[in-house]
Amino acid sequence: MNLKFPKRPSKNSKIREWIGPLTKKLTQSKASFGLGQVPKNKVPDSTVDLICGYCGTGCSLQVHLKEGKAVNLSADSHYPVNLGMACPKGWEALTPLYAPDRATTPLVRNPKGQLVPSDWDTAGKTFVQRFKRIQQEHGEDALAWLSTGQIVAEEMAYLGALCKFGMGIKHGDGNTRQCMATAVVAYKQSLGFDAPPYTYKDFEESDVLFFVGANPAIAHPIMWQRVMMNRNQPQVIVIDPRFTETAMAATQHLAIKPKSDLNLLYGIAKILIEKNWIDLSFIDQNTNGFAEFCQFLKTVSLDQVEADSGIAKKTIYALAETIHRGKRVSFWWTMGVNQSYQGVRTVQAMINIVLMTGNIGRPGTGANSITGQCNAMGSRLFSNSTNLLGGHDFLNAEHRKKISSITHVPLDKIPDTNSLAYDQIIDSIHSGKIKGLWMIATNGAHSWIHQKGFVEAIKKLDTFVVQDIYHNTATTELADIVLPASGWGEKEGIFINSERRLGVIRKVKTPPGKALSDFNIFRLISHYWGCQELFEKWDKPESVFQILKQCSANQPCDFTGIKNYQMIEERGGIQWPFTTADQEKPYQPERRLFENGKFYTPDQKAKFLFEPSRPIPEAPNHEYPFILLTGRGTSAQWHTQTRTGKSAILRKLYPAEIYLEINPQDAQKLQIQPNQKVRVISPRGKISATAHIAPTVQEGQIFIPMHYRIVNQLTHPSFDPYSREPNYKICAVKLFPEKPKS
Ligand code: SF4
Repeated sequence: MNLKFPKRPSKNSKIREWIGPLTKKLTQSKASFGLGQVPKNKVPDSTVDLICGYCGTGCSLQVHLKEGKAVNLSADSHYPVNLGMACPKGWEALTPLYAPDRATTPLVRNPKGQLVPSDWDTAGKTFVQRFKRIQQEHGEDALAWLSTGQIVAEEMAYLGALCKFGMGIKHGDGNTRQCMATAVVAYKQSLGFDAPPYTYKDFEESDVLFFVGANPAIAHPIMWQRVMMNRNQPQVIVIDPRFTETAMAATQHLAIKPKSDLNLLYGIAKILIEKNWIDLSFIDQNTNGFAEFCQFLKTVSLDQVEADSGIAKKTIYALAETIHRGKRVSFWWTMGVNQSYQGVRTVQAMINIVLMTGNIGRPGTGANSITGQCNAMGSRLFSNSTNLLGGHDFLNAEHRKKISSITHVPLDKIPDTNSLAYDQIIDSIHSGKIKGLWMIATNGAHSWIHQKGFVEAIKKLDTFVVQDIYHNTATTELADIVLPASGWGEKEGIFINSERRLGVIRKVKTPPGKALSDFNIFRLISHYWGCQELFEKWDKPESVFQILKQCSANQPCDFTGIKNYQMIEERGGIQWPFTTADQEKPYQPERRLFENGKFYTPDQKAKFLFEPSRPIPEAPNHEYPFILLTGRGTSAQWHTQTRTGKSAILRKLYPAEIYLEINPQDAQKLQIQPNQKVRVISPRGKISATAHIAPTVQEGQIFIPMHYRIVNQLTHPSFDPYSREPNYKICAVKLFPEKPKS
């Protein structure tokens, strides 16, 4: 247990030989990729700072302009997030904007079923006429929208306000349902608000870091660099069924059986109590429900935890002791926890541990969700889909009144019911209740769980409108109307990153053809719908920012002290909360929450929440004996690759064809050779993938990255009951080696 960080397990060199291209170091070195080199005839004459438009880390990139044209970029060395670093996606952020398959004109499907070029007037009027007809014939429940964590907060707010207040569309959700809904619900239930408590400095200040279902070495490489800057020789403990790149660099890897994380965390909590390694005074003063939690833990058997997780009891005791001995213990998680049928309770099992040991509100501590998309945090506060603007509640009359008085939207136009969640919207399309869908900046036909079910639903729609920067994604191909949008760097607004930091993006390029910013598309649709008078003051993104600022007043996310975009830029981003009172105090660029032990619940106490672990919805069985795990492949790939796939440089950094990782023992049993094609079959679909034989996965498991278009033909549509987040990480499959083509 006293390994020196970052000592690696000795078997790593062997592992690296096995997995070859999968473990390329894809992080901060631009020189090694030939990136960031400015051609001699393009020495820039000005520079504009933008927050990166991919992941929730929120790095600042400096885009260099020559005669008004973006010629290159570099990583901002003064920004407190990335300190001069960027990952390959960031270095290549401009390239996807120049792709030849950008959507440059509206498209409308003609009577022959072909998508043909159109103009904004025709497309806008067709969209509105068809949606209004559906609403008149089938009622308010017959329309929905599905949005994204990739557009700026002002656009998200405009979309949500337009749909709910202007167009009377009751149901809207976003692709943040696919990644962060679990963390949102867990924080709200336990701490009273969706409030990731940390600042990135905590990566450097912990002496014990647990990464549960997280692989930051490739999924959040700059956060991982912050861990590598930790001078405390920390224990870095990775809990993950796979021997990931992060596990390879950790001091300890616990290769748990898939989805046994909840029980393992309960086992650790039980030992902490049994040994009295808890902070009773913190528990007494700042929490509720501890006695009930202790009662519940009496029903947890450590023998059973050992059997369920595959982790020996003595190791679980050692983990508890490591927490006890640690002065600053932090827990970090991403999709391995969130994308689960019991993700909310798993997050809360980590929150329970930090509460009972007093590891929250101090440097280097916390139960910390690492966010996926660049503006997932903005979506969580301002999409106006599941929350009323500013983290308010549609069911709360006072909240509705407050938002009505700020926005001047009549009270009766603000719904007093909640939207359906993403999966419920798809189910309602299947059942014929929803007949019109507007999808914005997301590629559901690739990314949604159980792809066949999604595509079948979309084909049942009367009208399917897709707004995107490319005309040929898996989703736009299914559309009746395509609205061409600007990309990152072609508009302005704010993103909010994982540590609650507001950052600004600016326009450094003109969008191609007739493409418009999402903001201007929403303005146009409000005009065609006839509700533009509701949005008179929403004339430009910074005007909307001022409205959102007022909506945040007196909420935990209050940022009324931020005057304008310029102030955010001058301060190197600003974390919420930042109230008008904070303006008077010396500025702190890195702040964490709960330093005073007060939480956002009505009595300011955090809650212990728990329930027994449930069985895997689709466990391996006699017919489908393997477990399929999915996740991120490399740091050069982003989600469905609509953007990263456009960069020739990034394409060199990952396998072009879909592949699976399979354990050497299983490969031998099934007589699968390296690079042989393998048939992978689940009860929902069958695909073909290239075998990468590597002990990165345990026997009985395979791993396939999520970035390839067909992988979700296999996944199982089960959901967390509290967050409705899909359970992407585990389903049952069978495998057959394919005969080589002669
Ligand atoms: Fe930073 Fe994430 Fe962008 Fe990479 S993708 S440069 S880690 S914000």
